[in-house]
Amino acid sequence: MEKIKMTTPLVEMDGDEMTRILWQMIKDELLTPYIDLKTAYYDLGLEHRNETDDQVTIDSAEATKKYGVAVKCATITPNAARMEEYHLKEMWKSPNGTIRAALDGTVFRAPILIKGITPYVHNWSKPITIARHAYGDVYKNVEIKVPGAGKAELVFKGEDGTEIRETIHEFKGPGIIQGIHNTDESITSFAKACFNYALDTKQDLWFATKDTISKKYDHNFKDIFQEIYDTQYREKFEAAGIEYFYTLIDDAVARVIRSEGGFIWACKNYDGDVMSDMVATAYGDLSMMTSVLVSPSGVYEYEAAHGTVQRHYYKHLKGEETSTNSIATIFAWTGALRKRGELDGIGELVEFADKLERACIKTVEDGKMTKSLSLISTCEHPVILNSLEFIQAIRATFEAL
Ligand code: NAP
Ligand code: MG
Repeated sequence: MEKIKMTTPLVEMDGDEMTRILWQMIKDELLTPYIDLKTAYYDLGLEHRNETDDQVTIDSAEATKKYGVAVKCATITPNAARMEEYHLKEMWKSPNGTIRAALDGTVFRAPILIKGITPYVHNWSKPITIARHAYGDVYKNVEIKVPGAGKAELVFKGEDGTEIRETIHEFKGPGIIQGIHNTDESITSFAKACFNYALDTKQDLWFATKDTISKKYDHNFKDIFQEIYDTQYREKFEAAGIEYFYTLIDDAVARVIRSEGGFIWACKNYDGDVMSDMVATAYGDLSMMTSVLVSPSGVYEYEAAHGTVQRHYYKHLKGEETSTNSIATIFAWTGALRKRGELDGIGELVEFADKLERACIKTVEDGKMTKSLSLISTCEHPVILNSLEFIQAIRATFEAL
């Protein structure tokens, strides 16, 4: 059989620990036998990040801007323990943070639905995609622990000398204050990424804040979304038969629970942090979540939502058998290959991605799965496979489709 040819390279960001092991297995078993894989390879494994003073992460983000599509393996975000374990020169920043900042992107996370793994919310028959704004608010806050009585003020000093001053509170005793911010530029990027992704995936877009209480801060988010929708997207949405819908956050939460899913829920930074964990748990677990970073200029970076599965890696190093679920990492590859195929007009690549995803789902639905999946599946007699056997079972299903 002739292998599928690619025209533009995919930016490949290799990573760490167990997911790095899975990465190679996926390439060997599921990709290179069928595709003449063309990638611009960047090794984001912690050792190489340390050797290059993290330049490799910056280079991989630049390559993503150049080529338009990347696929990323999970990577270690160093902490004190990792400093020692890997003899690091510095506590390098989270690669995801660096890439997100370079691409100015919004992260979209969606569950992979499989028969036999029933969401806790029974009416959720379609995936709910969470779009989380990844800049500002409480994540870039300034806080003061107020020691005693006194007046707290909010002051803005313009470069032109104008001054805006508001009293926050006249304290009679000890308390707390917090200053948070966001920028119109970042909110605009977030809004555009959401509207583009909704059009791309033909799903309705929901957005919610607390604008009745936060009449300037949250209201600004609502206004920017509405203005961009009215001037740039309304016609495109109507043509695609999809809807943009704004409501209050508490109303949104109630509606989400009653819904059947199948839409994108755009969330402010904190709401997205909290709601994505709730949604992921309700659908199954993190190992069945896809994640894609979309920039306002239309650049895509696909990854799995889970980490490097450190505990399994240590077992693997000791020569023990592991049963790590590779589905989210495979879907990162299929997402990237499909997008590459769409951009370059290579129908075979799009078909390959669709078929490989169907093979993953069918393999689990046929009762062949990893240990973690067997724990959440209603399948009565699951066959539990090790990491490599699972990938090989997916290959066998793929060949038979
Ligand atoms: P993790 O790698 O997501 O794993 C946490 C636990 O969840 C695992 O020990 C395992 O449970 C289960 N799990 C996660 N993915 C699984 C899979 N594919 N198959 C089977 N079980 C799976 O999170 P972590 O242990 O907190 O973090 C490890 C490293 O990953 C850290 O260094 C962190 O910095 C990094 N990280 C990277 C990313 C990213 O690059 N996107 C995201 C998050 C974390 P059991 O051990 O009980 O089987
Ligand atoms: Mg969280």
